[in-house]
Amino acid sequence: MAPGGLRAAHAIAEIGGKAVLIEQRGFLGGAPIAENYAGLTPHGEPAEPQIRRMIDLVTSHPGADVRLGTEVQGAEGEGGRFSLRLRGPDGEQLAECGAVIIATGFSHFDPGRETQMYGYYEFPDVIALQDLEPMLKQHNVLRPSNGQPPERVCFIQCVGSRDRHIGNEYCSKVCCGVASKEAIEIRLQLPGTKVFIFYIDMRMYGYWENQIYWPAQEKHHVQYVKGIITEVLPKGERLLVRGEDTTMGRPMELEMDLVVLSVGMEPSPGTRKLASLLSVQQNKYGFIEAAGSPLDPVSTSREGIFACGAALGPADLEDTVSSAAGAAMKAVGYLRSRAAVAR
Ligand SMILES: Cc1cc2nc3c(=O)[nH]c(=O)nc-3n(C[C@H](O)[C@H](O)[C@H](O)COP(=O)(O)OP(=O)(O)OC[C@H]3O[C@@H](n4cnc5c(N)ncnc54)[C@H](O)[C@@H]3O)c2cc1C
Ligand code: SF4
Repeated sequence: MAPGGLRAAHAIAEIGGKAVLIEQRGFLGGAPIAENYAGLTPHGEPAEPQIRRMIDLVTSHPGADVRLGTEVQGAEGEGGRFSLRLRGPDGEQLAECGAVIIATGFSHFDPGRETQMYGYYEFPDVIALQDLEPMLKQHNVLRPSNGQPPERVCFIQCVGSRDRHIGNEYCSKVCCGVASKEAIEIRLQLPGTKVFIFYIDMRMYGYWENQIYWPAQEKHHVQYVKGIITEVLPKGERLLVRGEDTTMGRPMELEMDLVVLSVGMEPSPGTRKLASLLSVQQNKYGFIEAAGSPLDPVSTSREGIFACGAALGPADLEDTVSSAAGAAMKAVGYLRSRAAVAR
């Protein structure tokens, strides 16, 4: 789990509760560790040490019981007394708990499903945001096709988000900030490389406007172009990016060495599976439906079951840890109020 699950487990343990943390992978840290994120928004501090600190807080806490390589296979009971059937390295086990927090996160939109033609699976130099992170982390941004540093890189925003044709009308919230952060990192690591961001409109979260967007343009000379890219085609050794510059109202064609697709967030298979096992309502996109939204964004349709982070919908890390702390508070409060009534 992580970072939502980590934050929730730590919060529960810190207020004297007992948390069982169930993670399907053999390691903690969620997407930032699994996908080797480079720097984190807004200031680009290395991701791994920050997430490792969260992991250490949980693994060193006597109130947290971490089960790696483990998945929930079945669930019985109700609020106050759930019984989860787990399958892990030691075979099947039962976990008895009073409340459940779903922190199963997101998956990346598969750019092969995109109705427009970006060639993610056809052209090696078309990659996605998460493919660029490990290259940035290793300071080794190269064109997959020939192992050479790219001279011209572009990001295409809103791939798999804000798109009615594919049924994802929602904004994935983080990709404008993450693409701009990655663009800055490229400019710092390869100062001779030109970087473009093609966008419908930039959706910068709160302070990210000043912390990421303006410095990207004014300090790091990232070029933002308002436009819609309709296709990416091979052209000699390069890629031809074709679309419409919507500010100028005219067609545009630019050659690039590396094209980065800003893919959106979808519910992870684990989020869908757990929602179904626990009979918790999902929204039309498959994320967990927050039953008390907007004033209680972490309660689900079932008493005693809460959710946090990207399992609830697109979320950045701040959203994730805030909702995780909220879910932990709600879960502990729920169990304490039941105990008080029973006394
Ligand atoms: C390329 C990229 C870069 C990003 N960079 C930033 C950034 O710089 N700053 C920022 O604020 N946000 C960033 N984000 C967003 C950030 O990744 C998310 O906000 C965060 O990962 C959400 O955390 P989470 O715990 O909800 O989900 P996840 O990170 O998806 O973690 C979910 C965990 O649940 C586990 N799991 C899933 N299903 C099950 C199951 N059935 N049983 C057991 N375990 C299960 C998974 O293995 C995983 O460990 C970025 C996103 C992307 C795509
Ligand atoms: S955050 Fe930006 S790139 Fe992502 S869906 Fe929203 S507008 Fe599009």
